[in-house]
Amino acid sequence: MGTLTVELGERSYPIYIGQDLLGQAGAYFEQRGLSRKSPHLIISDSNTAPLYLHKLTESLADTGYKTFSFVVEAGEKSKSLSVYEGVITAAIEAGLDRSSSIIALGGGVIGDLAGFAAASYMRGIRFVQIPTTILAHDSSVGGKVGINHPLAKNMIGAFHQPELVLYDVNTLLTLPPREVSAGLAEMLKHGLIWDADFARWCQKNAERLLALEPEALEYGLEMGCAVKAKVVSQDERENGLRAILNLGHTIGHAIEAIAGYGTFLHGEAISIGMVGSAMLGVRLGADPSLVQETRAMLQSLRLPVVLPRELETDALMSAMMHDKKFKEGSITFVVPLSIGQVEIRKDIPASLVREIVEQLKK
Ligand code: NAD
Ligand code: MG
Repeated sequence: MGTLTVELGERSYPIYIGQDLLGQAGAYFEQRGLSRKSPHLIISDSNTAPLYLHKLTESLADTGYKTFSFVVEAGEKSKSLSVYEGVITAAIEAGLDRSSSIIALGGGVIGDLAGFAAASYMRGIRFVQIPTTILAHDSSVGGKVGINHPLAKNMIGAFHQPELVLYDVNTLLTLPPREVSAGLAEMLKHGLIWDADFARWCQKNAERLLALEPEALEYGLEMGCAVKAKVVSQDERENGLRAILNLGHTIGHAIEAIAGYGTFLHGEAISIGMVGSAMLGVRLGADPSLVQETRAMLQSLRLPVVLPRELETDALMSAMMHDKKFKEGSITFVVPLSIGQVEIRKDIPASLVREIVEQLKK
């Protein structure tokens, strides 16, 4: 089992990654000093709750914790104002007080929704992340929580760090294969921005990761979380460095928006975006082998690397221009210099990005 710490002064917290941690949740709660006197509310979704809610509730009850649960419909639609209201209603009805916590049991949707409820209920109560997707190694660390507005994704939110992150790799065994690959895209991203050896490890161990071998998952998630934790420790509120976590996301977000949300999973869209970033890196001076190497790494994880021709370049460009990273005729991009090393560039001309989008369709 691995333990990491996100270093944020008095808001520091541990991340535990291992097998069968769900059954020991009570002991971890106790270690972190969560109250036994106050009730706690578990938020989960309609896919995850039938699989894991009982085990978690039982483990907490065995150690004297009183919990209530609230299950929302699976999917991005639950990151909405109306579902958020439902969570707050459940919190009031369960009698949550200032010593209570809200516990997220699920993927990134549940983490973001439950975290925002915890950030705002009674002006902020404690929050526990129990991620059950691979992608959620990214979303459960770092304290960004929030919900969507009908006009824009993640538009309503807060920074609210959890008390602890409890990652039981055994819960990942039930993930659908596409979700596995999409989550691995963010894992590889953490290697591509920070640690070349780890990126190469992901490629070399791709088959073990895709087969959900617990030891491979433990190591990969630990390394991915470690990169995220280091970046967040240095720049909690995204004043600079934290932006490197957006590698592949400028093009990726445009793909998600233009293809229609849900056509591509987030990890699939940023996979294509990371190939585009590598192409941009080469245009700006990186070794030409960077594109082929990046592509091979992503393909080993069964991720898409070509942009479908039917996604129109004009539409993608205008989506990128509306992206909040756009400023005065140039686009902000995380540009790779080599595997494991990136820089943030605010001066990428839109015309060059257009050429990259075209190149990505070949
Ligand atoms: P998700 O929570 O929708 O989970 C994906 C699917 O897998 C869902 O259908 C879910 O019900 C199902 N599922 C979850 N765990 C399962 C399990 N163990 N077995 C079987 N099925 C399971 O999506 P996600 O990919 O985990 O997260 C995406 C969300 O995360 C987006 O809303 C995104 O905005 C957010 N996000 C947030 C941050 C952040 O820093 N806060 C970072 C990245 C992504
Ligand atoms: Mg992402």
